[in-house]
Amino acid sequence: MITPFAWPALLQRPLYGAGLVLHGVLFVACLLVPWERLPHRAYLLVPVLDFAAIGLLRNGAAPLLPGLAVLAVFPVIWISASGMLSRSSLALSFLGPFFVMVPSSMDHLAAMTSSDLTTVVLFPVMMLAVSLAIRFASVNLRLQQRELAEKDRELRELLAASTDREKLLETVLDATDVGIAAVDSSGHFLVSNSRQRNFRRATGADEAVPGQGHQLIYGQDRHTLLPPDRRPISRAMAGESFADYLVWAGEGPEQRAVSTAARPLVSDDGRLTGAVVVYTDVTGWVESVAANHELVSNVSHEFKNPLNSIIGNVDLVLDDVDMLPPHLAQRLQVVQRNAERLLDLVADLTASASTTLNVHPKRTDLASLVETSLSSAQASAQRSHVEIATDVPSPLWAYADPLRIGQVLDNLVSNAIKYSPDGGSIRISATADRQWIRLSVTDTGMGMSPDDAAKVFNRFFRAESAQQAAIPGAGLGLSITRMIVERHGGSIVCESGEGQGSTFTMTLPAEGPPPAF
Ligand code: ADP
Repeated sequence: MITPFAWPALLQRPLYGAGLVLHGVLFVACLLVPWERLPHRAYLLVPVLDFAAIGLLRNGAAPLLPGLAVLAVFPVIWISASGMLSRSSLALSFLGPFFVMVPSSMDHLAAMTSSDLTTVVLFPVMMLAVSLAIRFASVNLRLQQRELAEKDRELRELLAASTDREKLLETVLDATDVGIAAVDSSGHFLVSNSRQRNFRRATGADEAVPGQGHQLIYGQDRHTLLPPDRRPISRAMAGESFADYLVWAGEGPEQRAVSTAARPLVSDDGRLTGAVVVYTDVTGWVESVAANHELVSNVSHEFKNPLNSIIGNVDLVLDDVDMLPPHLAQRLQVVQRNAERLLDLVADLTASASTTLNVHPKRTDLASLVETSLSSAQASAQRSHVEIATDVPSPLWAYADPLRIGQVLDNLVSNAIKYSPDGGSIRISATADRQWIRLSVTDTGMGMSPDDAAKVFNRFFRAESAQQAAIPGAGLGLSITRMIVERHGGSIVCESGEGQGSTFTMTLPAEGPPPAF
């Protein structure tokens, strides 16, 4: 547009003027024509007519401004990048510049010089090369765009699938009646369900950082706040794996008993990446067990006084046994024996219902406790034709309450004798390592089925074999035994088979207080 200012003579040339006018018309048409409403790719008329306008300009200005032909590169770019069929766009990219160049050589068509040929052929060929390059670039670009679109679609599908899966997981988690939470190693919740959120609300827990801040999580006595590192989530985040860890959440009438369990999350290379903690509301169960214990303890307490009175009075009468007729004395001795048995039973009932059975562990030689227990069982063993052998290293130090563990040993040994009605042998053996003492009482008696063996520590449980053999008992001794061993931080198990004898093995801490439970 500015060339006439530099070369005013150009305005005298009609061809040049026509070129300018055509350019102007095309420019205005670009702005005003509603191309989007016209048939498919009508706008390609603009670059095609642009060749004509450039041809007029170039040939109108020749030979003054031969370089104007270079303008043909713009319609060539437009056509090549337009997505038009390759063949048409290549043909137009060659022919357009060709017709721009041909008129100036028309005069000497007959005697074309090699420079004319170069002008007419080389320039269109260059434009063709430009077109080819653009087409390759745009094909490449289109392929990349298609790949990107494909990836985008796949990502969207994956996202939709993972959102669906997340919703499914949430629904499943919310449908369970236990609280579930997964935390990462820095303590942030990855997943949690509505029950777990209720638990957090009850404890006034910090929503963002589990295990931190002030929380109303109490120990088994319901009143002592748990130190932060003993809270279930903190223990789980420290990599501990546990089950049946009972805590009390919240305060007042809203306080709930929650049994918790945890498993660490470990990556393939063995790193701790977080933990899953499960919360079960066991308030109803704990309260019914407590009510049961209270009933048993009240009833046994009420039995104790009348029984003591009966035994005391019978004892007084029997003090003058020589003055009594023999048949009366015999009857009274039966009353005395049975009243004493009843008193023992009441004592067992009281002990088994007690939630405050105290143990006072100290460094104790288990070997001497075994010896004491054996000497008191010797008489009844002889009566039942049972032989007792021991294999216990002496001394055998354990961290135990000598009175309570003596009671446990008495119970295990007297059971072994009692449930060997046809005689047999009993063996007491022990092994020790740095942390634990394992002490076993093995008999060759009647034994019991493995199913029954799994239940012998339940209160009032009596094995089928004992009932069939009509051996008297109340099924309380072993429940007290287990309570005592567990209060030491140890454990006790029973292995047995019907007619094959039984082995009771208790594990006690060897030294010092066991880890807190
Ligand atoms: P009790 O002996 O008074 O019934 P325990 O609690 O001591 O109560 O034992 C519970 C039950 O376990 C017994 O009734 C008996 O069936 C079974 N049991 C205990 N010890 C043995 C044993 N050594 N051999 C076979 N059965 C046993």
